[in-house]
Amino acid sequence: MTTRDTNATDGAPILELVNLKKYFQQEGLASAFLRRKRPPVRAVDGVSFRVTAGQNFGLVGESGSGKTTIGKTILRLEQPTDGSVLFEGADVHRLRGGALKEFRRATHVVFQDPNSSLSPRMRVRDIVGEPLSVQGVRGAALRERVAEVLQLVGLSPDAARRYPHEFSGGQRQRIAVARAVAADPKLIVLDEPVSALDVSIRAQILNLLRDLQDRLNLTYLMIAHDLAVVYQACDTIGVMYLGKLAEQAPSEALYREPLHPYTRILLSAIPRPDPTQRHERLPLTGEIPSPSAPPPGCRFHPRCPIAVERCAVDEPEWREVEPDHWVACHLV
Ligand code: SF4
Repeated sequence: MTTRDTNATDGAPILELVNLKKYFQQEGLASAFLRRKRPPVRAVDGVSFRVTAGQNFGLVGESGSGKTTIGKTILRLEQPTDGSVLFEGADVHRLRGGALKEFRRATHVVFQDPNSSLSPRMRVRDIVGEPLSVQGVRGAALRERVAEVLQLVGLSPDAARRYPHEFSGGQRQRIAVARAVAADPKLIVLDEPVSALDVSIRAQILNLLRDLQDRLNLTYLMIAHDLAVVYQACDTIGVMYLGKLAEQAPSEALYREPLHPYTRILLSAIPRPDPTQRHERLPLTGEIPSPSAPPPGCRFHPRCPIAVERCAVDEPEWREVEPDHWVACHLV
């Protein structure tokens, strides 16, 4: 599988996040004496980006960076604290009635672990057919569509009669993908879609996703902690750090010329295919700070190898330094 060189600004955005914030209020008091509430967890703290139709946009970052919360907020599994999520220009958290039903048909999700995302008590035909039943598809039309999508993902139509435990991990993820595409969606959120799979199976599933994207004209938002996976699969990559975007660029540009120190560190961990290429792995020291008490100034400054005095005080601006290449760092 190779990366695709899609200009992020081509075409109309199908998905747009506008200064999205999601804070979680913590239970209990920070100080019983002062009766002061504990500070909220700022899981997502002002994130904006656009995804164009047909694009594969990757969000990458360590655990705790806020990428999964973004996925859930897009799918209305969480309400935003502030800002908005626009799908085809409409605010998804204000949709009602028929518009909401259509949004549910047009968006779907594939989770990391097919073992827990597929009900063990349901046959494959019911798992894959559920999004269709919700849309009112019944009888022969339902059976035919289930057989069709099972074939699309490389499984036999006979799989419809069986249960998830009768399949391997890779086949179960194919079932999850079949369910995701069954109702002919436009946008699929892929939440760590290959990280629970054997390395040998990962490339097969990524190739399947790419093939389906081309055939069905799908748009993907792929969430992953592994930059190597996102680089392989996505057109554009957004690098998240502690609730904010640190850098965003087309995949090739990000790989060729990473600008943010955090991106450089993540990229240095990817093995290079050419052993003659000089390749130094940069260390990432310390733990990601708590999102309930993010550091002042640049959030990355306690771990940044090139931080200067200003970094601890001033928050860097989110700037477009080259066409489609955005970064938040004082020293770029
Ligand atoms: Fe490092 Fe400063 Fe840039 Fe933040 S703003 S990434 S601390 S150099």
